[in-house]
Amino acid sequence: MKKVIFSLTLVLLCASLVWGQGSVSFAQYFEEKTLRIDFYHTGTKTEDIISLDAIYEEPIWAGSLTELIDTTNLGEHLVRVFDLATNQLIYSRGFCSLFAEWQTTDEAARDFRRTFHESVLIPYPRAPVQVVIASRDRENLFREVFTMAVDPASYHIKRIQPQQGRKATAVEQNGPPSVKYDLLFLGDGYRAEDSEKFRSDVARYVEHLFSLSPYKERRQDFNLWSVEVISAESGISQPRQGVYRDTALGCSFNAFDLPRYVLTLDNRAMRDIASIAPYDGIIILVNSERYGGGGIYRLYAISTVDHADSPHVVVHELGHALAGLGDEYYQSEVSYSEFYPLDVEPWEPNITICQERKMLKWRDLVDRLTPIPTPEKQEFVDAVGCFEGAGYSAKGLFRPAMRCIMFSKKSTAFCQVCQRAIERIIDLYSK
Ligand SMILES: [Zn+2]
Repeated sequence: MKKVIFSLTLVLLCASLVWGQGSVSFAQYFEEKTLRIDFYHTGTKTEDIISLDAIYEEPIWAGSLTELIDTTNLGEHLVRVFDLATNQLIYSRGFCSLFAEWQTTDEAARDFRRTFHESVLIPYPRAPVQVVIASRDRENLFREVFTMAVDPASYHIKRIQPQQGRKATAVEQNGPPSVKYDLLFLGDGYRAEDSEKFRSDVARYVEHLFSLSPYKERRQDFNLWSVEVISAESGISQPRQGVYRDTALGCSFNAFDLPRYVLTLDNRAMRDIASIAPYDGIIILVNSERYGGGGIYRLYAISTVDHADSPHVVVHELGHALAGLGDEYYQSEVSYSEFYPLDVEPWEPNITICQERKMLKWRDLVDRLTPIPTPEKQEFVDAVGCFEGAGYSAKGLFRPAMRCIMFSKKSTAFCQVCQRAIERIIDLYSK
């Protein structure tokens, strides 16, 4: 009897042996379906443990068929997939997690241990693969924390059928999912009688998003989808106010004890629902008029819909979720403890510790007459430079522009560096 279905043996693969090969043929290694690996991510500020929950086969693959290796260097984690027979790297993607975000909170610093449910989605392999998940250390180097062999023929892989009564709606379709960035809208806190409102909220935010650069110029590179998610109650939980709501996706204010931070920790519910649509990214619209939202790179963007600043929040949070942009602001109630160490270059494309023109990661966008670091003077209000104050720190961290949607809700446009970072991700999913 063949007992070894998923070998959890820690096979330490030496990544350096397999980096740097040429392009990978999708058809040789993969089928156009998704392998979803669900896991529990547990630890403290310094401890990082991943343990397997379940593996699913999902019917749709929305990602690229050509851009299989991630060269963006974005994200707190990196999933890599190796062909088991040859050790060739055949797929990789960076991503962020609620766990890594939580690790920056005071709760984690007290050596308290928590668990978050997470997923990685990879194209469905034709033959056994080795899946390796790595997290960045304090120096931002990737360290392996989990590895397992997966046999795609295993009967332990759960085969999901599209859910009864739910269907994906094409809000706007510009081509096959493999050559488009597929953006999926979900709703939380909408009852059955709020369905019309959900549809009009989606339409409203689609028009707002695609009124802004670079989205408006790249609209043809997107497909837009929605799944109507019916909640038992309207609105979402506001624990600090003693308000609790039974909603389908479990979104809540006061995430990590920050009043305006809205997250859902119910990853399994969200992934199950999303599995019926093609998606490269998810926006969760929350049926509330209170100000709030949250965004995690390659997990989701969340925003309430009926506050006067909601249009800003939707686009700002999608900046985090789609492109891994960092917060450029530094004066706020956000009280992360040393979110960015000041001696390590952040991986976020729009934040730096660098004050040297030659080393600046957006140096090609800086005019040679613009001083580095750049003083906050009216003459530089539209310039790309290196302005002190970013990433929750007034000193030691720099941002590319005085104004940007990632800096302030008074800004109505992304800076050039953020625009380019968003375009690079659109390229990664639309080729
Ligand atoms: Zn920016």
